[in-house]
Amino acid sequence: MSAQADRVMALSEWEERWQEGRIGFHQPCVHKMLERNIDKVLCGRERVRFFFPLCGKAVDMKWLADMGHSVVGVEISEKGIKEFFEEQNLSYTEEAVPDIPEARLFKSSDGKISLYQCDLFKFSSTVAGQFGGIWDRGSLVAINPCDRQRYASLIISLMDKDCRYLLDTFLYNPELYKGPPFFVPDEDVKNLFGMTCDIQLLTSADAFEERHKQWGVDYLTEKVHLLTPKAN
Ligand code: SAH
Repeated sequence: MSAQADRVMALSEWEERWQEGRIGFHQPCVHKMLERNIDKVLCGRERVRFFFPLCGKAVDMKWLADMGHSVVGVEISEKGIKEFFEEQNLSYTEEAVPDIPEARLFKSSDGKISLYQCDLFKFSSTVAGQFGGIWDRGSLVAINPCDRQRYASLIISLMDKDCRYLLDTFLYNPELYKGPPFFVPDEDVKNLFGMTCDIQLLTSADAFEERHKQWGVDYLTEKVHLLTPKAN
């Protein structure tokens, strides 16, 4: 059994991180793996509907919206969502979500970016349909390991027939660091999605940086997979 199988992060711990500004996962620039692989995700398509599970305040959402796509994200932290709109200089509206009583929807005034403030597991295709693109960065690796199967089922249910799902994961020695990000071996990606999706490894690269020394790990490999629903 994996060293991290029993590790559980409560939603309140994520909110504490936001309140205390412990958001080392946030990057000020567009993620290089998204930038590098965007053509493979788009495949020439315009006005794609993108889904960002566990979106935080990723600047990638604005980048895609500026390219003419639309974005739906889910994030538990209201602070994170409000900071996104404020830092990106986007005016927004706030409304209730009839399908999820405990959720709030924050929507950019141009309607291109909709962020649902709720637990991801309350979200479903009933709320906002299916998607042509998914950017999973800091999401599968942030979900508690015991919830991965449930997570995969949800993501699969949100995929349109032509969906292209870009998934970013990390490999490191899980005996040395407890996460998050949790370690997700390729075997898990295959077990979770292999029945329903074709899986292509796009990148496997050394991602070890100075800041990772505090995790105590001795290597960090970033993997990027492209998943597409199997034709049936
Ligand atoms: N994808 C973002 C954020 C990654 S960190 C980025 O790349 O910057 C993971 C984020 O998920 C945190 O902002 C945390 O508040 C949020 N989160 C964790 N569990 C969640 C859940 N079950 N539902 C919704 N949001 C969650």
